[in-house]
Amino acid sequence: MTQPVLSLWINGKPQASMSARTADIFNPASGEVIRRAPLASRQDVEKAVAAARAAFPGWRETTPLRRARILMRFRELMQAHREDLIHLTTEEHGKTHEDAAGSLQRGIEVIEFAMGVPHLLKGEQAEDVGRGVDCHSLLQPVGVCAGITPFNFPVMVPLWMFPVAIACGNTFILKPSEKVPSASLRMAELLREAGLPDGVFNVIPGDKEAVDALLTHPDVRAISFVGSTPVAKYIYESGARHGKRVQALGGAKNHAVVMPDADLDFAADALMGAAYGSAGERCMAISTVVAVGAAGDALVEKLRDKASRLKIGAGDQQGIDMGPVITAAHRERIRKLIDSGVAEGARLVLDGRGLKVSGQEKGFYLGPTLFDKVTTTMEIYQEEIFGPVLIVLRADNIDDAIGLVNGNPYGNGTAIFTRSGAHARRFARDIEVGMVGINVPIPVPMAFFSFGGWKASLFGDLHVHGMEGVYFYTRSKVVTSRWPVDEEQGPSNLSMPTLG
Ligand code: NAD
Repeated sequence: MTQPVLSLWINGKPQASMSARTADIFNPASGEVIRRAPLASRQDVEKAVAAARAAFPGWRETTPLRRARILMRFRELMQAHREDLIHLTTEEHGKTHEDAAGSLQRGIEVIEFAMGVPHLLKGEQAEDVGRGVDCHSLLQPVGVCAGITPFNFPVMVPLWMFPVAIACGNTFILKPSEKVPSASLRMAELLREAGLPDGVFNVIPGDKEAVDALLTHPDVRAISFVGSTPVAKYIYESGARHGKRVQALGGAKNHAVVMPDADLDFAADALMGAAYGSAGERCMAISTVVAVGAAGDALVEKLRDKASRLKIGAGDQQGIDMGPVITAAHRERIRKLIDSGVAEGARLVLDGRGLKVSGQEKGFYLGPTLFDKVTTTMEIYQEEIFGPVLIVLRADNIDDAIGLVNGNPYGNGTAIFTRSGAHARRFARDIEVGMVGINVPIPVPMAFFSFGGWKASLFGDLHVHGMEGVYFYTRSKVVTSRWPVDEEQGPSNLSMPTLG
């Protein structure tokens, strides 16, 4: 049976794509195709940009308070329809119900942050910067913005972007991952129900063709991207070449350093969720442990014991800890990387390659896998595996551990497990990574802070949400004003004005 093709969402309503190309959307738990995504064409993108451009003047004139009220209604609708959004996330991505609920909650928190936009858009003001001269600054919207998002957070990552962008007075085009587009289309319906004017928010499922059309379109002013590092770099370079501001968040290889003074049971428990939650398909997943000194042997034993007890199955079933990975092709890639770890001499402590889930034989499952005695030259260290594979390296002391983490090209997230304040402080200060946890394994900043990595994990200057998100989606303007009274007007002066 041929599965139905989803619509695009342009100008406040579903619209059929002009492209004949589609992509299968799988339920990774069953391995079945459940629907198809349209792969938007350049003409579809033109249409979406035209709608967003036409909506911009009216939306910009809508006061920040009124924009915030629409977001308040949207937040209530997201809460009211949370089971729907959780279901779509679990169905298309494979996350467990609880994990999907957690990521939805973290996304809703960005809407809550953006609801404060009348306050967030306040600029600076100074009286008497010169005699009779005052100065104030404004934060104004940039225009049509676009967001390009990955498969691994169908709800949360789009919500990192568009609530802040539209709160600031911009209009928005979302290009969700073609593997998981349904939740984005559902959010578009909820925004309309919340009272968002037509054209302010548009959704165009698609692939490289749609992305390239957005990157080169003269009316798109800003691009937010989250995905893998090679694509992030391409988006940054191409967007910048076409005169756009770009924030492009890339891949990761997040290390947790476990010191010998840490509570090893606590660390091992925390690492279970950080490494195997969402089948390791999180940009903030801990995929690498650096065990320092005597911590190594005992920690590996605890990790093996706990990982071997995880329950794997369909995310909508009760009592499941970990679901499938996104596609059969991705599972194959991970299996090959595990093969390479074995071939290169790492110690395979737990092997997930042969896992079968009864009743779900066609699902894209892979069991939790654990390697010890990994070195930095091995492929399993150098590649972002993005699956349920945790690798352990050994270091002699904290200096070596920090050197090892800083030597990695990525810099998204990291954590240290220790009972020593001195070690924790040293680590937080010297580590070259954007998000740092101290006895916190996945240090994803709350919505009122900004989220972003360093080095090959971010191309661009500003992180998403929090105040950096507001600065990304606004242009600042400084107004210097004087209201001279007649007797103050002197002869004209051609030299560089100095106010003070
Ligand atoms: P991806 O880079 O393959 O795709 C991301 C988006 O780019 C999708 O919308 C896709 O359609 C589009 N795309 C893919 N190839 C393209 C190309 N050649 N040209 C133009 N557009 C293209 O990433 P993914 O597999 O969907 O997601 C997993 C990756 O995302 C991992 O590397 C993960 O670390 C990363 N990620 C990073 C963060 C972060 O905050 N840094 C968050 C989530 C995911």
